[in-house]
Amino acid sequence: MKRMKLPKLHNQILIALIAGAIFGSIFNVNTKTLSISYKSDKVNVTETILNWEVFGFIKMIESPDTILFNSKQQLEIISTFKSLKSSDTPFQAFAVNCYIKGEESSKLPIKVFKEATSLSKEKSIATGIKWIGDIFIRLLTMIAVPLVLASLTVGAASLGDLKKFARIGGKTISFYLITTVIAISIGLLSANIIQPGKQMAVETKERLLSVYTGEVELKIEKATDYNIIQEIVNLVPKNPISALANGEMIQIVFFSLLLGLILSMVDKDRASPVINFFDGLSETLIRMVNVIMLMAPIGVFALISATVSEFGFDILQTLFWYAIAVVLGLFIHTVGTYSIIIKTFSKIKLRDFFKGIRKAQAIGFTTSSSAATLPVNMECCQDNLGVSKSISGFVLPLGATINMDGTALYQGVAAVFIAQVFGIELNLIQQLTIVFTATLASIGTAPVPGVGLIMLVVILKAVGIPEEGIALILGIDRILDMCRTVTNISGDAAVAVSVATSEKEINYPVMNKMA
Ligand code: ASP
Repeated sequence: MKRMKLPKLHNQILIALIAGAIFGSIFNVNTKTLSISYKSDKVNVTETILNWEVFGFIKMIESPDTILFNSKQQLEIISTFKSLKSSDTPFQAFAVNCYIKGEESSKLPIKVFKEATSLSKEKSIATGIKWIGDIFIRLLTMIAVPLVLASLTVGAASLGDLKKFARIGGKTISFYLITTVIAISIGLLSANIIQPGKQMAVETKERLLSVYTGEVELKIEKATDYNIIQEIVNLVPKNPISALANGEMIQIVFFSLLLGLILSMVDKDRASPVINFFDGLSETLIRMVNVIMLMAPIGVFALISATVSEFGFDILQTLFWYAIAVVLGLFIHTVGTYSIIIKTFSKIKLRDFFKGIRKAQAIGFTTSSSAATLPVNMECCQDNLGVSKSISGFVLPLGATINMDGTALYQGVAAVFIAQVFGIELNLIQQLTIVFTATLASIGTAPVPGVGLIMLVVILKAVGIPEEGIALILGIDRILDMCRTVTNISGDAAVAVSVATSEKEINYPVMNKMA
């Protein structure tokens, strides 16, 4: 009897991606429902209200103030609820001419929720399975911190001496900086040509600004502490164990590089057991990735379907030209710039390069996290592209932490977009300031979802664009984060291949066991 053969893992992931998107869009979150928890006679009740005609909040302050919404304003209602909650204003919520799920036969002329404790979209089956995806991301992220420590230490130690360390380090950092500057320039060009901000209607602008103000305040708060001198000081961990415990990537990178470098100077007998320990650890962690990746199709399916089902597609329409400017820029950089780099600095065929890293790209896309993708990227570069362990162990963890071309490109587009919406013309000096600050900001961006948006605040400040403007792009950030993470990790792989070729530390072709 013939056994049915399962498709290869990367094809399974691709199928999961597409199936997840379809599943998510079928079971998308109903925009006419709200799940509300409130206290009724001191008991916590959770109900789902449907098809309200009017939804309102009464602020219970000296002169009561009422805020009203119509049946189409689910997002606005949730965001107003959040900001009322966070400002500690006493309020009551109410719905007019609504239904309660499970009792659809009776229309309620008015329903008051005295002490509402939470208000959110109703969960769909697709968002209900998100936890499976969360486990998958956690498994990958769990590996990232020890992997950065182990592989960077071994990577730096195996470079042998200070001269080689400086040479390879210099090449790597130069590649990273140059590609980042090219990325931002492509972003600026794309935004200046497409001019997405000029296509936005005034009402849309007002609506977006009002929906997301609450969330924006939190992001601005997080970003205001940014100070370049302090950032440099913060590179050095006070305590490497606490840096590891808190996942402070850039501090872990600093410590591991130093540890590896000094190990290469310590006498062999003493250094070897330490290096062997980290070597064994990094090897084991990469093996662990192989096991975790068996779960990838299910994890990817769950994550994509939850994201798609929760995503408000109307926002995509509203920000269509902005999204196009970002995605087009990312595409040109990923396919264009990296192809030129691979062609110029390596002997790998472009097809093989992109085929070799597609698994990592799919994981970057679904997890939106360079850190979570690092283990997979290392596996792809070593097994599929033949990059030596010492180069991939050095270049990739460094890249995952400091090289974010996609993020920098997106920040360029976003800054120009917001300026255009606010009617600010950016001159050459301002655009160059964006190139400079976005390069620095992308180095400081933590390799986890959504941080690029927080760092954008720093760039907007530097050129005098109103920071509240990030409210305009918040609703679409998650999807663009997925796309920019693909570029971020592809850039790391392209540089790893180029540096490995220049150091003759590549064994190509090795495209045999690509799974
Ligand atoms: N999610 C991105 C990454 O991990 C960072 C960002 O742009 O927010 O690469």
